[in-house]
Amino acid sequence: MKLHDDNNEKEEKTKFSVHSIKMAWKVFGFMVAFIAMLLALLWTFQTVFLQNFYTAIKTGSIRSSASAIAQNIDNQDLQTLIERISLSDSICIKIVNEEGEDICSVETMRNCKIHKAPADVVQGWFQDTIKNGGSLEYFGKDYNKEFTAEMKFSGKLPPSDHFVQESLIYSKIVTKADGENVMILLNTFITPVNATVDTLRIQLVYISIIMLVIALAIAIVMSRHLSKPIIQINMSAKELAKGNYDIVFKASGYQEISELNQTLNYTAKELSKVETLRRELIGNISHDLRTPLTMIAGYAEVMRDIPGENTPENVQIIIDEANHLSTLVSDLLDISKLQSGVQTVNLSVFSLTQNIHNILMRYAKLVEQNGVKINLEADSDVFVSADDVKIAQVIYNLVNNAINYTGRDKTVTIKQIIVADNSQRYARIEIKDSGEGISPQQLVLIWDRYYKVDKMHKQAMVGTGLGLSIVKSVLELHHAKYGVESEEGVGSTFWFELPIVENLK
Ligand code: ADP
Repeated sequence: MKLHDDNNEKEEKTKFSVHSIKMAWKVFGFMVAFIAMLLALLWTFQTVFLQNFYTAIKTGSIRSSASAIAQNIDNQDLQTLIERISLSDSICIKIVNEEGEDICSVETMRNCKIHKAPADVVQGWFQDTIKNGGSLEYFGKDYNKEFTAEMKFSGKLPPSDHFVQESLIYSKIVTKADGENVMILLNTFITPVNATVDTLRIQLVYISIIMLVIALAIAIVMSRHLSKPIIQINMSAKELAKGNYDIVFKASGYQEISELNQTLNYTAKELSKVETLRRELIGNISHDLRTPLTMIAGYAEVMRDIPGENTPENVQIIIDEANHLSTLVSDLLDISKLQSGVQTVNLSVFSLTQNIHNILMRYAKLVEQNGVKINLEADSDVFVSADDVKIAQVIYNLVNNAINYTGRDKTVTIKQIIVADNSQRYARIEIKDSGEGISPQQLVLIWDRYYKVDKMHKQAMVGTGLGLSIVKSVLELHHAKYGVESEEGVGSTFWFELPIVENLK
């Protein structure tokens, strides 16, 4: 046994690791896809578009510097301002008049184009800028040869190995307070980002490798964390399927898992209840079938073996027991039909009062023999629309119970009362006995299938425990109100109400 358990445990553990490895691969797959997307984005932005971003940022910065200067063009401290801007943004700045002469200037870079340009070139820029609507951007390759206007504008560029960096010249025309037009000239360099791109590429390769390792680790940890409770639940559910209803689902983890656990624990509890009920039902039925069968066999044997025992009384006992058996079987059939929903009501309009009369006729012999008194108090004939056979079954069951459980006075009273609710009148049938009554705790249970109040009580042997369950099913099928009032030591009154059909011709 121990060996068997060990083997089982090993098997479960292997299953566990197989499941969690499968899950780890899945999680890893998703993470790799995510990382690949992230890296592709990084790669695109950092390598392909880096130069464009850098140029756009530089252009934006030179434009805003030009605007700041333009706003302060009449300022006394213009020189200080352009010095500050020039230092903080690494820009060479020059403000010139229409003739190309300097008004103020700051030169921070060695190869500054605007300071090296001759006055006639500057004048040319002035005109170009005015033509262009007041501002102009020149992008030009910077070469380790002298910069000339001819080179700049003719497009005859020196060989590429002379290329050092790209130069950005920005010009803006502003009108001073005294009406004079001046040009703000700014020059900055856009250093090629090739070296940076190479560095980033190498970094991205390293980042990719590190991310993949981290992803694998996270995938393993995550899948263990996620799959462990699920596998535990799976194992417990298999136990439940084998019929072990005592199993407790106790796997802990995230909220969904604990909710699933609660549901499964509830399921296990309900299943065990159903199982108990099933066992009890089989026990009860077999007991109830055996008792009359033993009686029938016993009496029959006595009658066969002992001369003179073949009396009508003994035959009657056999008949009674056989009847009891057939009642039990038909009750069982009724209840299973009613509760499986196969039964439907066959509506017809009939006299409920007459129906009760007919049922009571069946008791005439019993009344005669046992001294049972059955009183019917009904003022008028009432008609209802219902299934007459099933309603008769209800009345029969209730009257039977009342007779079986009534007290020493052996009196059962059936009352037909007419009650009104809004414009509808109802026939309320009350079946009253003077028996021991039913305790409040048991009042709610008596309607249950196979419930008998006191299984040891002699009277409980009379019934099948199915009568009230049939009554309940039939009345619910008719959507009728029903109930019971009972006082211990005084008696019980079972009642139901059916709507009266008026204006019958
Ligand atoms: P049974 O066939 O045993 O009468 P029922 O379903 O008709 O089964 O009734 C269930 C239980 O309810 C009975 O076993 C009995 O204990 C109780 N009961 C039913 N009717 C009465 C009554 N009129 N007075 C007292 N107890 C009753």
